Amino acid sequence: EAKRQGRGRACAFDARLDEDVRLRRRIETGLSQAIARDELSMVYQPIVTGARHEIVGFEALLRWQTEDHGPISPAVFVPIAEETNLIHELGDWVLERSLAALATWPGQYVSVNFSPRQFRRPHFVDDIAQKVAAAGIAPERVQIEITETAIFDDADRAAETLDRLRALGFRIALDDFGTGYSSLYNIRTFALDVLKIDRSFIDGMPRERESMAIVRSIIHLAQSLGLGVIAEGVETRAQVDLLRVAGASHLQGYHFSRPVTPEAALDLAHRRWLSPVRPVATGTQG
Ligand code: C2E
Ligand code: MG
Ligand code: MG
Ligand code: MG
Repeated sequence: EAKRQGRGRACAFDARLDEDVRLRRRIETGLSQAIARDELSMVYQPIVTGARHEIVGFEALLRWQTEDHGPISPAVFVPIAEETNLIHELGDWVLERSLAALATWPGQYVSVNFSPRQFRRPHFVDDIAQKVAAAGIAPERVQIEITETAIFDDADRAAETLDRLRALGFRIALDDFGTGYSSLYNIRTFALDVLKIDRSFIDGMPRERESMAIVRSIIHLAQSLGLGVIAEGVETRAQVDLLRVAGASHLQGYHFSRPVTPEAALDLAHRRWLSPVRPVATGTQG
């Protein structure tokens, strides 16, 4: 009896594994056709200053709308693309779209996510420099977001890549900061401009003392090292207030705006401020 039960369980487990593998294959096949089928799009989420909530940049985020399964999250499909060469095709598409959007904005920068495999590709620096130059865009207006995974494997090579990007004028942001491996080692060793404090820490504010303490420490550390910070996933007024007191230089999250279409982003870029938050009037009333 016990044996039969055991076998039954093993079969159920196998079936689930099978289903996972099938799902991955379907995603892979679907992704390889997504560009041609016009199923991909970009959305842009404002990044605002901590003090006055001025929109100074936008993070570019990829979206995939499938015919059969509706929208699929990049948190699901990017890792699958990352395991194949598909990530390069997607990445090129993302960069091209992001630069085109940026070209229409009055002064903001675009912050583009690059996966570890893109970052480690030979000619990564030359490729991006060439594309940015061809679009007539100053590298200072492009922020490159990488995670700690991207620099972890081959530290020497990563350091060299980052130095070259920096020398060309690109900004470098370390994404999901605090969740990766040996974070302190990374900020000591690599040429960075900005730490993006992972959403999981902001999410714990103000409930958890530990999250509060970690966020304050990261901000303090960034200030001491002359780095900027972007607090990710700011959803509440209480978090905004606490982050202001803690001295966070930049904020990003649903409290200010969800990621929006290119048209809406252009509109926000021209307005520069997110209502109802407005800058303190400094000139005559208009
Ligand atoms: P990420 O780079 O850390 O992006 C931030 C994620 O947090 C985005 O999810 C964004 O929509 C979400 N977010 C922003 N504010 C809030 C908030 O207040 N509350 C909550 N709950 N979420 C918030 P998204 O767009 O689903 O992207 C997930 C991840 O997929 C990204 O994490 C990034 O790692 C990856 N990804 C997205 N687009 C690209 C891309 O073009 N290239 C690469 N390589 N990866 C991408
Ligand atoms: Mg990011
Ligand atoms: Mg992030
Ligand atoms: Mg993340």
